[in-house]
Amino acid sequence: MAHLRDPKLVVANWKMNGSLDLVHQVLEEFDDTDHLVVCPPAPYIPLFIESDLFVGGQDCSAQEEGAHTGDVSAQQLYDVGCTHVIVGHSERRLSHRETNEWIHAKAKMAIRAGLMPIICIGERDEEQTDNHARQTLLAQLSQCTHGLKPQQYIVAYEPVWAIGSGKTPSNVEIETAINTIKSEKPTQVLYGGSVSNLNASQIALIPDLDGVLVGGASLEINKLNAIVKALS
Ligand code: PEP
Repeated sequence: MAHLRDPKLVVANWKMNGSLDLVHQVLEEFDDTDHLVVCPPAPYIPLFIESDLFVGGQDCSAQEEGAHTGDVSAQQLYDVGCTHVIVGHSERRLSHRETNEWIHAKAKMAIRAGLMPIICIGERDEEQTDNHARQTLLAQLSQCTHGLKPQQYIVAYEPVWAIGSGKTPSNVEIETAINTIKSEKPTQVLYGGSVSNLNASQIALIPDLDGVLVGGASLEINKLNAIVKALS
C-alpha cells in the first residue's frame, strides 16, 4: 500500500544552475512539501527561508572561519536557515581535488554547526569495470565518516559514471550498494545519478532506499514534481 510508506527524501542539487525565476517556480509548486531539500547556489538560499521547504548548501568549508576567499562556513549556512549540506560531491572531488580526509572534516564541521551533512560517495567508471566498486565505497565510507554517529549524517550513493550521463545502475545494483553501506554504517542512504521523471518510480521500489539526490532533472519543475510524487 504505497500511500502508507514514509515519503523518501528528494534532494535537489542545482549545482551552478538555476535562476530567480526557478526559485519562484519551486516556491510556488512545493511550498507544503515536507520531503524536499533544495540545494540552490548559495546566493539563492535566503529566498527559501520563509518557505516550508528544507534548504541546503552544496558544500561547506572544512575550516571554521578565516582567510578562505570564496568559501562558506557550515555555521554561516546554519545561520541563514539551512538544514542540510552536501559534502564530497564527485564534481568537487574532481575539480577541487577534495580528499576523503577533507570531506570528513567538512562533515564534522557541518554536524558541529547543527546541519545534516549529505556525504557523497561512489565508484568511478574504471572502478566499476574492474570490480572495485565495493572496495571504493567501503574506503570512502570509513574515511569520510569515522568517529561520526550514523544518525548524524546521510550518505548519498552516487556512482560517478551515472552522474549527468543518463545511465543508471539496475535496481539490484543500487540495492547491493545500499546494503553494503548499511551493513557498515546503519545510516540513511540516498541514490543519485541520472534520476529522472522517467525512472523515479522504478528506483522508488528499492526496499532500503531512503531517498534520491537529483541534479539535472531538479531544474525542471514538471520533472522535479514527478520525482517528488514518485518518492511520496
Ligand atoms: C548530482 O548532481 O549529484 C546528480 C546526481 O546529477 P544528475 O541527476 O544530473 O545525474
